[in-house]
Amino acid sequence: MAAPSFAPSRFPRPCWGLLVVLVIGAWGEAAEEVATQPVVAAARRAGLRVLEGRHLILITDRPVRADDGVGNLPQIFDEAFAVWCDHFQVDGPTVNSWRAVGCLMVDRQPFQAAGLLPTDGTIPPFQNGFCDRNRFWLIDHPNPAYRRHLLLHEGVHACSLTLRDLSTPTWYTEGIAELLATHRLRAGRFESTPIPLQASDVEQLGRIEKILLLRRSGDVPGLEEVLATPPDRHHALASYAASWAAVAMLSGHPAYAKTFRDLEAGPLDANLTQRLEQAPGWNAEQAARDFDAFTAEVDYGYDFLASAVDWSPGKPLVAASQMTVAADRGWQNSGWSLRQGDRLAVVADGRCRVGAVAEGPIETEPEGISLAWYRGRPVGRLLVAQWFPATSGGGRPQWKILAEGSRGKCVAVADGPVYCKINESPGALADNTGTLSVILSP
Ligand SMILES: [Zn+2]
Repeated sequence: MAAPSFAPSRFPRPCWGLLVVLVIGAWGEAAEEVATQPVVAAARRAGLRVLEGRHLILITDRPVRADDGVGNLPQIFDEAFAVWCDHFQVDGPTVNSWRAVGCLMVDRQPFQAAGLLPTDGTIPPFQNGFCDRNRFWLIDHPNPAYRRHLLLHEGVHACSLTLRDLSTPTWYTEGIAELLATHRLRAGRFESTPIPLQASDVEQLGRIEKILLLRRSGDVPGLEEVLATPPDRHHALASYAASWAAVAMLSGHPAYAKTFRDLEAGPLDANLTQRLEQAPGWNAEQAARDFDAFTAEVDYGYDFLASAVDWSPGKPLVAASQMTVAADRGWQNSGWSLRQGDRLAVVADGRCRVGAVAEGPIETEPEGISLAWYRGRPVGRLLVAQWFPATSGGGRPQWKILAEGSRGKCVAVADGPVYCKINESPGALADNTGTLSVILSP
């Protein structure tokens, strides 16, 4: 889980005597691209391997190996590039003829000797990768999935720096590179998965695990902190994970997706954060809460549509009241609120489906099923909770489970509504059907 790379906040000066061409990006502003042919010629003279796709020239000192996936990287890059152009809302002749040069390096020395990796200080020392306009360098990684991720991460930088003249705050620059690099291969082809669907698709990426680890230690940042991430040339993995999480939420959560897409259609410049915070309908407090709710629950296949939280305050619970809990949704607002210290009795029944195996559907009742567990509780078990605000000890706001199963008695830990859901990974809700019935009594 090495830390990925960083992009310069502005382009470094053109260096090492290479030709620089000016192109007019679809965005309409001049963006400098490094001409690719002199670089390729230098690589060939040095005996380095050159693999060419439509949009990527990949230069490497890796020896040829039949099954290491390196030969397919230009094709995968081209498939990803189409997704990025769609995301960045660019097209036209400039895009069609756009090319990047990537150096995939086992050893830096042959690239330095060939003049392909500057040693004059114009490129800072980097751990995993670095991008300068449409050129990037990355250190080879033995894991094919992680190598592809690092390559595509730098590719997003190259695409956005040149075609969109990107000069955004760190959280966006790195978050969007992480988001648009995240993928799986289906029949050998690139498929964008902004939130990875399963761990085996993104071996060694470790981003979801990092966020959950930070959650457990109380160190996960809030949204405000992520949006203020300073530019840092030794950017930590935790910051990458948090930046990815912020961009994933803003582009995937139904409350923000439209605003964010409109924002990304405008200038990708240093004022992006201010424009976000001044966008019509932006509610910083609610966005912070949605971000905390996301980092509390994030998992492979997390679906914002199924897990978006209704934060309505609810009415005071003064008499026994029924609520229906859908099996295919995350935390659901009961519409009834409690004051801290209020007593609550819960009685639940019903039967719903939480998936299927070859023998047929898997059904659950409020106690849950004993053959599968998630986060320390049986899958399918009814959970009753409240949103608990940040503590003075510095802990992030979080869900506090008050009761679980078919019946329970508890005391409210906060002022606010009662929420229910069945216990399952948020990435596994889509195949659930049915509901449970819950009676909440003061
Ligand atoms: Zn980066």
